[in-house]
Amino acid sequence: MGNAWIKKSLIRSGVLPLISRFTGHGVAILMYHSVMNDPASEELTLGGIIHSTKVFREQMEVVARYFNAVSLDDVLLFLQGKKTLPAKAVVITFDDGYADNYQAAKDILSPLGIPAVFYVTVDCIERQRLPWPSLLRHAFLTSKKNSWPEAPGMEWPLISAQQRIQAFDRASEHCSKLSGGPQGEYVESIQQQLGTAPPRPTQRLMMTWEEVRGLGRSGHTVGSHTMTHPNIAYVTESEARAEMLGAKNKLEQELAAPVVHFSYPCPALQPHWREHTVSASREIGYQTAVTTNGGLVRRHHNPLSLRRIRPTKTVDGLRWNLECAFLGRTV
Ligand SMILES: [Zn+2]
Repeated sequence: MGNAWIKKSLIRSGVLPLISRFTGHGVAILMYHSVMNDPASEELTLGGIIHSTKVFREQMEVVARYFNAVSLDDVLLFLQGKKTLPAKAVVITFDDGYADNYQAAKDILSPLGIPAVFYVTVDCIERQRLPWPSLLRHAFLTSKKNSWPEAPGMEWPLISAQQRIQAFDRASEHCSKLSGGPQGEYVESIQQQLGTAPPRPTQRLMMTWEEVRGLGRSGHTVGSHTMTHPNIAYVTESEARAEMLGAKNKLEQELAAPVVHFSYPCPALQPHWREHTVSASREIGYQTAVTTNGGLVRRHHNPLSLRRIRPTKTVDGLRWNLECAFLGRTV
């Protein structure tokens, strides 16, 4: 879509912001995961979900300067018809609970006055262990084996980088349907088959409970991202309920405060939420839930299945995507 020069000229001309003032209100909820000085340092585990600290800082400066950062509680009031929001309202969210959320992102967000939501995977905090997609990714990318025997007579070659990713995707499809103990056993079985040890990062990668509490004390919102990060739409209804309720209870115990915001993990398979999970989330006591379905949140949308926007890895790209979203276009 267009070239960088045209995009930049349109943004600088002021035409896009002018038009978006007349196209009705919506909210852009941005979905981040991790912020690191050197994203390549965790390429074998987190992969493409890391933003560089420099780009993240500049993206947040763009949000502070050209958009209006609001809290998720304000969005809930907006959806309930109890509050109007400023034009071009943006919510910043983080999934999973990485240590850099506290150690890097917080210190960029707070001075700019941007409130954020941090959705924490409880088991990953409690056991100081990466979410399972990163463990599987590490196993498939570092294995010295030439193939992975998914089943008798079903070998996946592991020669090229592309083949390793294909096998990783295949294993992820299976693992995303598992939660709790069986999920952990599956990850260990893959590590055994591939002859790899769990990753040993040079720095602590998940937040501690004290850091999670620190985010709350800094005025940010802490939400739930399940216990063990399954695809909630593919586990049984009772497993889905246990993941959503267990995480809410544990977070409320650790934070000594209500936790009413939920984020659906989205590993491997679509959909990642269903009507019955929306009902269950409401019964359990969540007031909002975010998905990874793309687009703006509009006033008539269900608070328990909110859309989000994936932020690009460039500063101009983020501004362009937000301006276009507020114009009602998807790019
Ligand atoms: Zn996640």
